[in-house]
Amino acid sequence: MITVFLGPPGSGKGTQAKRLSSIRNWPQLSTGDMLRQAISDGSELGKRANEFISVGALVPDDVVIGLIRERIKADDCRQGFILDGFPRTLKQAEELDQMLSRQGRRISAAALFEIEDAELVRRLSGRRTCSGCGAMFHVESLRPRVDGVCDQCGGKLIQRADDNETVIRKRLEVYSNQTLPLVQFYRAQNKLFPVDARRSPEIVLGDLTQQLKAFA
Ligand code: AMP
Repeated sequence: MITVFLGPPGSGKGTQAKRLSSIRNWPQLSTGDMLRQAISDGSELGKRANEFISVGALVPDDVVIGLIRERIKADDCRQGFILDGFPRTLKQAEELDQMLSRQGRRISAAALFEIEDAELVRRLSGRRTCSGCGAMFHVESLRPRVDGVCDQCGGKLIQRADDNETVIRKRLEVYSNQTLPLVQFYRAQNKLFPVDARRSPEIVLGDLTQQLKAFA
């Protein structure tokens, strides 16, 4: 089963993709994680991507489409996968449909994570991410047991460079302008279902798994 997670930054797509990935055998394909990896490797791709990421803009379509095109060929994607943060433009969505159809596959469902902007800003500006395993914490609502240290792997918690208020506002604007049209794209294909993302991660996960059954 191939599922797209659609929603603004901070709506919990990454958290839910990790959880769902660990209970089903579907890898989480996050273009954001792939790009951050390229940045920390210091590759040419990473340097190019960082110019866009650091200001909250989208990385050009050809770059992310290339990453996904390669990634979905891997063996672990055979049973299905979760697309977390891709596609983000109509062009990406159309290219994705085409590359899947060449493999005789298609997207099963698109989950739309819904939540208001004020809560997103609160979540993102207080978010801390583990530099080791990617686990997420929050300075107020999900504090680690030891300050600055990941509960799960002992890694160092960092604040993502793009999780500051100016860049967050820009990312939200980019989401409205460039990614929201995908809601209509997947609705027209009868694949879209809404998820109330204001609730606790446990409740959201239960709802997601329940709703996904209708598309299996
Ligand atoms: P994320 O971790 O999904 O919030 O992504 C962080 C940043 O990476 C975004 O603000 C974009 O600059 C870039 N990015 C991630 N995925 C995409 C995508 N599908 N298309 C374009 N840019 C992306």
